[in-house]
Amino acid sequence: MFKKSPIKKNINPFYLIIVSIVCSIALGLPTFIIFDWYKGWYNTWSQTAELPLKNYMDLIHFATTFIVVLYTIIFFISGILFNKLAQQHTQTKELKNFKNFTDSLHRATHEIEVYETLYNYIRNMHLVNQITLFYRNDRSSTDVLWQRITNERMPLCTMEPRNCPLIKYGRECSVKNIATDITCAYQLTEHKAGSYVCLPITINNQTLGILQLYSRTRYFFNEVVTSKIKSYIEVAKPIISSKRAMQQLNMKAYTDKLTKLYNRNFLETYLENQIEATNLSNENLSVIMMDIDHFKNVNDKHGHTVGDAVLVVFAQVILRCIRKTDLVARYGGEEFIAILPATDTKTAVGIAERIRETIATESMPKLNDTVVPGITCSLGVATYPIHANTKNNIIKVADIALYKAKQGGRNRVEIYNTDSDFNILIKE
Ligand code: GH3
Ligand code: MG
Ligand code: MG
Repeated sequence: MFKKSPIKKNINPFYLIIVSIVCSIALGLPTFIIFDWYKGWYNTWSQTAELPLKNYMDLIHFATTFIVVLYTIIFFISGILFNKLAQQHTQTKELKNFKNFTDSLHRATHEIEVYETLYNYIRNMHLVNQITLFYRNDRSSTDVLWQRITNERMPLCTMEPRNCPLIKYGRECSVKNIATDITCAYQLTEHKAGSYVCLPITINNQTLGILQLYSRTRYFFNEVVTSKIKSYIEVAKPIISSKRAMQQLNMKAYTDKLTKLYNRNFLETYLENQIEATNLSNENLSVIMMDIDHFKNVNDKHGHTVGDAVLVVFAQVILRCIRKTDLVARYGGEEFIAILPATDTKTAVGIAERIRETIATESMPKLNDTVVPGITCSLGVATYPIHANTKNNIIKVADIALYKAKQGGRNRVEIYNTDSDFNILIKE
């Protein structure tokens, strides 16, 4: 079904008077017919009566005209009153809705919750046929993900939000009639009728979200509709901004400045949560502990700056070799740790081998024309709950496996062995 614009406008008095006249004539007509019918009866009766027929006809015309005029006035006045009441009712409802919206925004604890609130309120307004909200999720300083909230099966466009021109320029895009307009080159051809608008959520010259609204009605998004939706976006913006600032502050506390990886603080909390989740799912969780071989030599030969650059390269190599579901953190110095949820020892060893092989062939950055030779690393693998059953112990046993790799000649992967390595754990 086509949706009419739900934004109530003032009814034009001209239309109101036309409707009033039509209604009053419609009601006046039966009055005239009844009088006229009564006239027939009166004709027979009046032969003996005093009142002349002409006077009676005048009376009928006068009464009918009077009724029609009276009805017109009544309809017109009640029309105006009804319109005013309906408008007041809509305004009160909208104000209440807006207040509830701001209250919900202030209750949001996370930036994503603000986007969800915005999406839900606009959806509950039942203005349009489809809503999609794209938002930027900065999972870490290096990991930016564009996500979307929608319950629509058929998307409006195939555009990856990160490539959308709207994100680059931060200007809204309005397609008034899908059948004829070619404003947006990325819209799907499945949508043959209607109109849509994409409104950017831009804060400090950075587009953080896009609200995409589609209506099956052509030319639906007039000034009144879009400015109403924009007022919701405007209220949400400062809340998004403050939640983001809070998040970035937290992120700083959990991120290593040099490599931009998570730090040890974050790792402790993350591993604890992952172990709880592993207990519930009855799956394994593997840990890889990594350490650059003879890293001290790099510092000693080429200086600390080169050493830092090598650490950054090493971090990038690990990120390239692990999966999206895994997490890597800088454990300290030139030691790194990867947490692999729902992963058995064999798969973890495969990933560890991939890291070892990749770093061994990776070329190192050139600084001040210094040629830095390639590096190798040693890795230790342990699996929860097979090798240890607490958070601290799983890190300890992975470290023991790493120690074994160093002892075994470096540039190798070792697995913790519950039987033979147990003594080392006891000693620690
Ligand atoms: P092994 O193969 O036994 O691991 O030898 P190694 O030289 O790598 O190990 P060692 O523990 O002797 O040396 C680690 C070095 O890492 C010492 C330290 O100066 C350096 N290091 C730790 N953190 C940083 C850092 O942030 N930047 C730089 N450039 N060096 C660091
Ligand atoms: Mg080392
Ligand atoms: Mg070390």
